[in-house]
Amino acid sequence: MKIVFLGPPGAGKGTQAAYIAEAAKIPTISTGAMLREAIANKTELGMTAEGYIKQGALVPDEVVIGIVRDRLVMADCADGYILDGFPRTVEQAKALDAMLPNAIDVALSLEVPDENIIARLTGRRECPTCKATFHVTNNPSKTGDTCDKCGAALVQRADDSEETIKNRMKVYHEQTEPIKDYYKAAGKLTCVDGVGAVSDITKALFKALGL
Ligand SMILES: [Zn+2]
Repeated sequence: MKIVFLGPPGAGKGTQAAYIAEAAKIPTISTGAMLREAIANKTELGMTAEGYIKQGALVPDEVVIGIVRDRLVMADCADGYILDGFPRTVEQAKALDAMLPNAIDVALSLEVPDENIIARLTGRRECPTCKATFHVTNNPSKTGDTCDKCGAALVQRADDSEETIKNRMKVYHEQTEPIKDYYKAAGKLTCVDGVGAVSDITKALFKALGL
């Protein structure tokens, strides 16, 4: 089963991808991990990517797509994979199809409204000392503002500010969400409601995938 996992940042894709990967016995392939792996293995494309990253530049599509292609033909991908974080644009989705026909069987979209994402992400708190994580409503610390494990004052990560999150949502809606229409036209889109208990969402995803 070759799956591309779509959904806004903060929808919980990472957690759910791990459950799907375990149940379907396929690897999860995230763009970030793939880039780090290619760089560590000093592949030709990895070294090209590293050059861009060292300059603080975005790695161009053709380099990322080449790295994805090299990864998807490895032995552990023979029975399928879950792509997370790629493709990020319709152009990337088209390029993937052109380079590796039938690279995707199912485009699985985890649907979570913006207001839920904003509440989830702006409520996250982190311990700056021991890195323990909390959430003001879903997983509060005992005192509310200090770490249960070490007592340090909890902080909000800079990228969890409401302004940063709204920017990320805007980028998702403008650049990534149109991918859903692309896969829908190919008859490959499956949408699952991503609001509610983690275990209920896992069940709905398994059902959608026939697991
Ligand atoms: Zn702590």
